[in-house]
Amino acid sequence: MVSTVKTIGLLGGMSWESSIEYERRINEGVRAALGGTASADLIIRSYNFAAVEALQEAGDWDAAGRLLACDAQQLEAAGADMVLLCTNTMHVVASVVEDALSVPFLHLADTTADAVLADGLTTVALLGTRYTMEEDFYRGRLIDAGLSVLVPVEPDLTDVHRVIYDELVQGKVVEASKQQYLEVTGRLVERGAQGIIAGCTEIELLVRAEDLDVPFYPTAQLHAEAAVRLALENYVNEPGESCRENASST
Ligand code: GLU
Repeated sequence: MVSTVKTIGLLGGMSWESSIEYERRINEGVRAALGGTASADLIIRSYNFAAVEALQEAGDWDAAGRLLACDAQQLEAAGADMVLLCTNTMHVVASVVEDALSVPFLHLADTTADAVLADGLTTVALLGTRYTMEEDFYRGRLIDAGLSVLVPVEPDLTDVHRVIYDELVQGKVVEASKQQYLEVTGRLVERGAQGIIAGCTEIELLVRAEDLDVPFYPTAQLHAEAAVRLALENYVNEPGESCRENASST
């Protein structure tokens, strides 16, 4: 079956610091697969993160869900063949977004769990915003997939959250905060974590796999790779295909 590269719809990360990484990584993935001038077919809804943060602080997840569901439908109407919500935190309303769509919705916790399970790990630590670390919407999905999940205890939990909102979503990558994160991950490894999930899409701007002695799961990168795989599923280079058809029919 002949198919072109599928169109990927992105609901931002929700800071542009993260959205732009998704755009870059998905494009890099398509280039790595197809070479030459090939790049991704993307539709991106980028947000004013201050407005999103206000909804989070107010705990107004209903309004956030309505907003994201509406925007997801607009991505689909504009031609998206799949939709990604490029933030772990806002997966608190993932089911509302998914229900609004008739195209596939790639759930971040699923792509993360798949990567951890593929490595044969059973116990992982989850770093992210307070919402992601404390509430059930994300951690519970990892547990349902068969994983034991550790999160930092106080004061580490508050520190991890603070660095995301006071620094990373504002484009500040601070060496002292990286060291602090590495101390937190060290304590989680002592408690039994076999790997670390960067369960906030900006964390991988601060900490990288080479900084750690245990496997690292950068959720934005894994999500982007999953989108590229789906976008290229059944892909056949059309001109090449017609050449083959012409050749065999003569
Ligand atoms: N990008 C973040 C995450 O993955 C946090 C910022 C947001 O709330 O979207 O959780």
